[in-house]
Amino acid sequence: MRGQRYLNAIRRRLPGGSPAPVEDPTTEPTTWVDTAPSPWDVATGGEQRATAWCNICRWTGTAFEGPQHCEFATCPRCGSIARDRFLFWCFVERTPPSLRTRLLETSPRMGADYRQAMARWFTYTCSDFDERAHAGTVRIDLQAIDRPDASLDVLLTPHVLEHVPETDTALDEITRVLAPGGRMYLQVPVLQGATAPPTEPEFHGDDTPVFWRFGPDLTARLRDHGFTTTLLCTEDWKRRVDAGDQAWGAGTSKEFDVTSLLGGSIAGDLLTVADDATAARLGFVPSYMFLTFEAVKAH
Ligand SMILES: [Zn+2]
Repeated sequence: MRGQRYLNAIRRRLPGGSPAPVEDPTTEPTTWVDTAPSPWDVATGGEQRATAWCNICRWTGTAFEGPQHCEFATCPRCGSIARDRFLFWCFVERTPPSLRTRLLETSPRMGADYRQAMARWFTYTCSDFDERAHAGTVRIDLQAIDRPDASLDVLLTPHVLEHVPETDTALDEITRVLAPGGRMYLQVPVLQGATAPPTEPEFHGDDTPVFWRFGPDLTARLRDHGFTTTLLCTEDWKRRVDAGDQAWGAGTSKEFDVTSLLGGSIAGDLLTVADDATAARLGFVPSYMFLTFEAVKAH
């Protein structure tokens, strides 16, 4: 079935799917949470010079673990995969320093240390709907969010919206619960040039059904709900779309129809948040795997 390799890759990353990296207690603290600075602290010289740097736990090294040059390149300290680091990078790069802000994250992939760190920095709530792979502290259905109007400043929602049947209902609810000026960083698998339902039944790691395969046209859908929207990407992707590239020119992951994705991308919707050097250091390669929607509610 199309998607199986991707699903298997996700399964290997689920809790219990692979052994936790072993850290040497003589050189590494047992937890990074207590020492991690504010996400808005400027990268130190060492962090800027490192060939691999995790912007979440501030680990530096020579290379990430696991599969290299893909969204699953893993930080040996906090367990973030490149996709996690990109979502966090987009949020921090695009949001003025806003510690203690009211932040909801739906189905965070990362575990206790990450959530503890987020709770140090923000008024943090993590939620889940089916409470299987990524149990949260509260259960939230994006189609009927159990939160008051205008009660959130930031919503981080990684790889959830594709599992929600009624996209417009969810976007109406998100608009309702965000405060004026509130913002959403939305990650979904962007595998093809135009949004469509799966052509055959598709499930992600914990057998959660996929209702939609989104394309870059989700930006227009977000604008229909009143959001100011851009599609955040790396310098490499912007350069390729600006140049009108029609093909990637090298081997690509089977899960991604990169030709369709290039054809469906709108240069004016894209905004570069990581230059080539940053993308290499944080592991945001290949560029077609790193797209995050920013949606800002009007003041
Ligand atoms: Zn890390």
